[in-house]
Amino acid sequence: MNTYKINEIFETIQGEGQYTGTASIFVRLQGCPVGCSWCDTKQTWEQLESDKQSLSNIIIKTSDSPTWCDADETIIYNTFVEQGYRAKHVVITGGEPCMFDLNPLCNLLHSKGYTTQIETSGTFEIQAPDQTWVTVSPKINMKGGYPVLASCMLRANEIKHPIARQTHVEELEQLLIEAPVKQNTLIYLQPISQKTSATELAIETCKEKNWRLSVQVHKYIGIS
Ligand code: SF4
Repeated sequence: MNTYKINEIFETIQGEGQYTGTASIFVRLQGCPVGCSWCDTKQTWEQLESDKQSLSNIIIKTSDSPTWCDADETIIYNTFVEQGYRAKHVVITGGEPCMFDLNPLCNLLHSKGYTTQIETSGTFEIQAPDQTWVTVSPKINMKGGYPVLASCMLRANEIKHPIARQTHVEELEQLLIEAPVKQNTLIYLQPISQKTSATELAIETCKEKNWRLSVQVHKYIGIS
């Protein structure tokens, strides 16, 4: 049994990476010290007691807020059932979900017939079963000062790297030299904020390196 700090739980379509288009339940965990300047979930950074609420309040949230609740894996699973979610893929995101031991949650979900996926910055040791699909979006030289861990890069099933400029591509190339991935790990470039220049750079680099493009489909079709 483990207790997780939950920022939100909702059902949607995964818009990024290998699972793009997959009906998914998102479990967003609270807390992240990594400090990316362009982070689009800054509401998850702090774990303030003053923002603690009941699970029922968290479930009905309709906009971004720093409110959170405690829930163990059984409560999380029961919530899926009570909410009538039909998706069988669960994306555990954040915040930085690897601040938590995700084994109890993923193991329970696997036993109930779900597949699981983690979206992590690669700056905390990954505590999750082998079956869990791990997406590492390596956050290199961010304000919080957390290095990307070689163990996370090696565990990754896919790397998803946000880029806007050539320097971001070079950062990833250097990281892959210092912290190699497995041979079958997929590498995605994801243009930051749907900017045209970033998208063009990502397309050209993917063609050159035989990498893949991830375009955050949910932002183009206007869903969460
Ligand atoms: S690691 Fe993720 S949640 Fe944390 S600051 Fe960076 S983008 Fe935001």
